[in-house]
Amino acid sequence: MKLTEIGEFGLIGRIRSDLENFQKGAIIGIGDDTAAIEISSEDLLLFTTDTLVEDVHFKWNYTSPFQVGQKALAVNVSDIAAVGGRPTYCLISLGFPQDTEASLVDDLYKGLKEAASLYKVGIIGGDLVRSPVFIITVSLLGRVKKKRIIFRSGAKKADLICVTGKLGGAAAGLACLKRTDLKLNQSAREFLIKRHLMPSPRLVEAQEIARKNMATAMIDLSDGLVSDLTRLTEESGVGAILWEDKLPVASSTRDLARELGKSPLEWALYGGEDYELLFTVSQDKKEKIEKNLDFSFALIGEIVDKREGIYLMDKTGTRTRTEGRGYNHFLK
Ligand code: MG
Ligand code: MG
Ligand code: MG
Repeated sequence: MKLTEIGEFGLIGRIRSDLENFQKGAIIGIGDDTAAIEISSEDLLLFTTDTLVEDVHFKWNYTSPFQVGQKALAVNVSDIAAVGGRPTYCLISLGFPQDTEASLVDDLYKGLKEAASLYKVGIIGGDLVRSPVFIITVSLLGRVKKKRIIFRSGAKKADLICVTGKLGGAAAGLACLKRTDLKLNQSAREFLIKRHLMPSPRLVEAQEIARKNMATAMIDLSDGLVSDLTRLTEESGVGAILWEDKLPVASSTRDLARELGKSPLEWALYGGEDYELLFTVSQDKKEKIEKNLDFSFALIGEIVDKREGIYLMDKTGTRTRTEGRGYNHFLK
């Protein structure tokens, strides 16, 4: 059987099924944003890793080494944030062709250090290897109080679905990078490209959600709204309705979509790499979140019975089933 037949998630399932005995004592094991293990009666240690590969995740012709460094750490911080945690220390493993300029590595580390300063992460080691293409793996530790951790699995029927920031901007940014002949104004273009190349994980917001005990479940948006929501609903054993007219999409994303004849809704639903937070809140906290959260977010839907699956509902009440697509490394 080829990986193209089972896909990334099929492969995770296959690996996971054989490793049950090796996950003893883990509060969160394989298949989540981050792993979590108990280190004291009150604290959990978080441990996550993410890799970026040249020509898979980015191309050098539109990405600087600085940006790759910044993004490699930022996407890991996003996974620690997704459970309400705080990042602490990381290791950086790099593979590159022998003819790589040493200055590329310097610039890459400038990006890593910028992100590390911003998110208060220590860089305490790593590994260097020769590789046919450039590859960077960041392994990041974090901490969270046991009573504050937010799982993907806690969403309940009738909970509200909330999202930080705007959706679809990273996908729009990627579309921008592929075209040089756009009429879109310069500031909109820069905004979108930044959304794609230099994501800002919602660490402050996630910690506030955890500290104020506002969410029943949370996940960061790396693969696309529908794809990540599907994972949250699967882990929680529920379904979801998304309200089409409530999905937050930036005006620059809409402008670009209009120019390219693309659907901004498609980008919002299926475009990945927005690195926003998707979280669920029980109905009785609706007023509380509106009053007590110090950042803006949008209410975009509601958790429903598992049998209903995941639907998109428009203003007239018409429901469309969302498609099971999002980024998947092995499917064609
Ligand atoms: Mg994640
Ligand atoms: Mg990861
Ligand atoms: Mg990740």
